[in-house]
Amino acid sequence: MAKRSRRIAIVSHCLLNQNSKPYLDALYPGIVNPVFHVLEREHFGIVQMPCPEVAYGGLKRWWQVVEQYDTPIYRGYCKELASNVVDQVEQYLANKDAAIIIGIDGSPSCGVHYAGSNSQWQGRPNVVDTKYPVAEGKGILMLELEKEFNARGLNIPKMLGIGLDIPGFDLKSIEGMLNEELKTVTGNMGLMGSKKSSP
Ligand code: SF4
Repeated sequence: MAKRSRRIAIVSHCLLNQNSKPYLDALYPGIVNPVFHVLEREHFGIVQMPCPEVAYGGLKRWWQVVEQYDTPIYRGYCKELASNVVDQVEQYLANKDAAIIIGIDGSPSCGVHYAGSNSQWQGRPNVVDTKYPVAEGKGILMLELEKEFNARGLNIPKMLGIGLDIPGFDLKSIEGMLNEELKTVTGNMGLMGSKKSSP
């Protein structure tokens, strides 16, 4: 009997690897457990996107905002990454699998509804005690991802942002938020959580 759930979650890299966050920004030692607790229960497979900032800025990078990352070179790099991600994802979409993209709200690269933003930020990062500024809008990788789906004439999967880069975000809200979003993605397949999977 076929075991595939035909459900995939395309997730920002740091949800599975908090070691990729800027210094002091990691909220979990490794995996953001509440996200994967729900995805595992609902039998979603995981497609981990690459972290654009680690290769671009390294592990010693500062916490920057979208206006600082928004350069032709960084956009081009994110475009290339987005193209590689969509090369894979479009196979699942063609198979009519249920798909959700889970990014990081507040991130200048992976924000879905909110991205770190401040047009005044530049130079020496002397803003340690200032609350990280966030505004409505997408991060650069998410914008490029959206463009890539559009360029190929594909429907963009549902996009959800987990607000891990928004100051004061309530970590306890993750499970409830994800449960709600997954219902809209699985549609008439329903949620499977109450059923125990057979080995
Ligand atoms: S939010 Fe995106 S860019 Fe930032 S650490 Fe996570 S994967 Fe990397």
